[in-house]
Amino acid sequence: MSEALNLFRLQKLDTRIEKNQSRLQEIEKLLSDDRRVKRAEKLVHQTNESAKQLRIKLHMIEDKVEAQRIKRKTDQASLFSGKIKNPKALQDLQMESEAIKRYISKLEDEQLEVMIEYEEAEKAKNQAEKDLKQAKGTAVEENAALAGEKNKLEDELKTMLREKEAVFQAISPQTLKLYNQLRKTKRGVAVTSLSEGSCGICGQALTPADMQLIRASNNLVFCPSCGRILFEG
Ligand SMILES: [Zn+2]
Repeated sequence: MSEALNLFRLQKLDTRIEKNQSRLQEIEKLLSDDRRVKRAEKLVHQTNESAKQLRIKLHMIEDKVEAQRIKRKTDQASLFSGKIKNPKALQDLQMESEAIKRYISKLEDEQLEVMIEYEEAEKAKNQAEKDLKQAKGTAVEENAALAGEKNKLEDELKTMLREKEAVFQAISPQTLKLYNQLRKTKRGVAVTSLSEGSCGICGQALTPADMQLIRASNNLVFCPSCGRILFEG
């Protein structure tokens, strides 16, 4: 087998190995990325906290209303008990009772507003919880698919590395060195097959003498234009 053919096989393997490895890296990144779930969790926490605060506020208003109602009841009872004879004291009590009534009405308006806010907050909290559940479900599904792909890629990589090892054995160290240098400077393509008597990469037409050389010799022949190793497949 000619060295050019071995190099051609090596290059094919290297290209596939690189593609495989870069996809594996991508998968690792995707598997460790749980930003969507984290975001959903944060929203659940925030909406939960808002709902909790509003619930506390609502209870406080309810307690206030209740306390004012009791106070007013007591005032009313005193007013109509007939025990208070002093007209000034009666008038004061009457005024206080009216003031409490107005205060209760104001508190009830506030209570209604907070109740509406609270209901909205509860709705947002429920939606956030639903979204989190969905985000987690999607992540599990996606991760399972990625883990499957990762296994397959790792198996393929092992096989390719074994094949590469075998190809390595057939190539001399000097040629390997040359190949690696060319790959670095020629955008990953060190070896090119001929296409109708021309370089498969740059299209340089080869002379009959070049063709003769490629076919006959076991030495490497380089494209006179782009400098890549030529191989007749
Ligand atoms: Zn060329």
